[in-house]
Amino acid sequence: MLKEIACPSCGETEELAGDRVDSAITMRCDVCGERWERDLTPECQSCGSKDLVTVPHAIVEKSRGTQLSVVGTRLINLCSTCDAESIEQWQRNRPNPLLPRVLPTVGDVDDVLSE
Ligand SMILES: [Zn+2]
Ligand SMILES: [Zn+2]
Repeated sequence: MLKEIACPSCGETEELAGDRVDSAITMRCDVCGERWERDLTPECQSCGSKDLVTVPHAIVEKSRGTQLSVVGTRLINLCSTCDAESIEQWQRNRPNPLLPRVLPTVGDVDDVLSE
């Protein structure tokens, strides 16, 4: 659901057009002609909060034998409200990346991946 956007110049909220360019949206106001860029600010999908924390998240793969190894990280956004527990966990273990909440256990990695 889109939050209401208003023209910073005249306050128009309806006659607006936007072009998405990479990670931003170039907005244009059809009333006064103002143009501006709107960041695609991520928001929590559960509560809509924009108070997010960017956390490195471990990508875990089963390696030879019984070991699980971290093969990389990707940045994810965690909601400071909904994901408070995970953020806390990450802060405790910094600078290590946050491990997936459910580590694939040896033997059912395929099950986890195909879910
Ligand atoms: Zn305007
Ligand atoms: Zn949230």
